Amino acid sequence: MSDRIKFFLEESKMPKNWYNIAADLPKPLSPPLHPGTLKPIGPDDLAPLFPMALIGQEVSQDKEIEIPEPIREIYKQWRPSPLYRARKLEKFLDTPAKIYYKYEGVSPTGSHKPNTAIAQAFYNKEEGTKKITTETGAGQWGSSLAYACSIFGIELDVYMVKVSFEQKPYRKLIMQTYGARCVASPSSETESGKAILAKDPNSTGSLGIAISEAVEMAAKDKNTKYSLGSVLNHVLMHQTIVGNETLLQMEMAGDYPDILVGCTGGGSNFSGLVFPFLGKKFREKKNTRVIACEPKSCPSLTKGKYAYDFGDTGRLTPLVKMHTLGSQFIPPSTHSGGLRYHGMAPMVSHLKEIGAIEAKAYGQKECFEAGVNFARVEGIVPAPEATHAVKGAIEAALECKNNGKGKTILFNLCGHGHFDMKAYGDYFDNKLEEDKYDEAGINKALEELPKID
Ligand SMILES: *Cc1c(COP(=O)(O)O)cnc(C)c1O
Repeated sequence: MSDRIKFFLEESKMPKNWYNIAADLPKPLSPPLHPGTLKPIGPDDLAPLFPMALIGQEVSQDKEIEIPEPIREIYKQWRPSPLYRARKLEKFLDTPAKIYYKYEGVSPTGSHKPNTAIAQAFYNKEEGTKKITTETGAGQWGSSLAYACSIFGIELDVYMVKVSFEQKPYRKLIMQTYGARCVASPSSETESGKAILAKDPNSTGSLGIAISEAVEMAAKDKNTKYSLGSVLNHVLMHQTIVGNETLLQMEMAGDYPDILVGCTGGGSNFSGLVFPFLGKKFREKKNTRVIACEPKSCPSLTKGKYAYDFGDTGRLTPLVKMHTLGSQFIPPSTHSGGLRYHGMAPMVSHLKEIGAIEAKAYGQKECFEAGVNFARVEGIVPAPEATHAVKGAIEAALECKNNGKGKTILFNLCGHGHFDMKAYGDYFDNKLEEDKYDEAGINKALEELPKID
């Protein structure tokens, strides 16, 4: 066993395909339904919002989908991303476990999000889209799509959840730097935003509301399309470049993970790392444990209901079957750790339902503590979202310490926290509130789920 801690893949070895887990599923996914007719939707229903190439990928059953050459060329600005062995963390924890992490913070915007932003902007450009609308929570997605749109010369309007718009001015300025327009949501630019403001002029917003605003604006104009940074099948698939690279890097390391860990907001970075490994689990009956880590204050996978629901608060999107806290649920604004969407990717929800993955929920304080410990030994300050994965990996490593089993753990360090130091500051100043699990709020939102058998 070598002492290497860094596994760099040569540019020429970068995988040329994305992996589509739909091809290997033991049981197929439930179809998205039209919100009016409740019948499965077809490509024509989605055409006003997405380019046809992405709609094709959304329903594709092909196992491998070739990454177009122009996308691969742009990926090479930061890909292949490094895989590290966390030897110092292992030592700090005094665990017999081996811990590896894939680091996606090396992208221009500091997270995994450009992997799909570049792809989505590329297909939009090919089909003549002039303008894209989108939503963003903490601003990672907005800045990544702004970067991608600047490359392809596409105009971009970003509806940013108001609480983050006010708390995270730097993300907004990055979007502006790339040439995008960023609007606090709920805004008075849209009917959905106006309806929310009429009910609650002080609404701090939510991803569900911001999605309604962006979808509404795209549906109104034929040259404008909508783009989503997580949840949808094609988005998850674009992220599998992460896992496909890691398969090769684990080979370089002479190892294979027993336990995979990722954090889940909508599910995309988690899926990006774990799907290629889950594919092997299905095909080769490998005994791999896969753990999704989410915040206690927005616990869709651990506490949500597996049911058909809307993707947005304004009930404009198709209905998808997923783990949901209800589309009317607004996560508490005291939560600083990101990952605040009411639902979960249908594909990730389905995998949980068939027992292929498990889920754990953590409080924000224990996550920041894990993030700080990680930074002090490994040198990288994790994004608040990524601290959930760090926490999950540390917990798995400590389990190995207790039972004396030297398992191999792999997690996705999906971004760095350089733009989120305010949240770290609140943690240091003891200003972070312990996560509230708003049971009454969630029950109320769940009562409003659409009634579908
Ligand atoms: C957006 C984001 C997430 C949450 O989205 P997923 O689709 O669940 O990956 C997690 N981590 C970082 C760094 C992000 O930017």
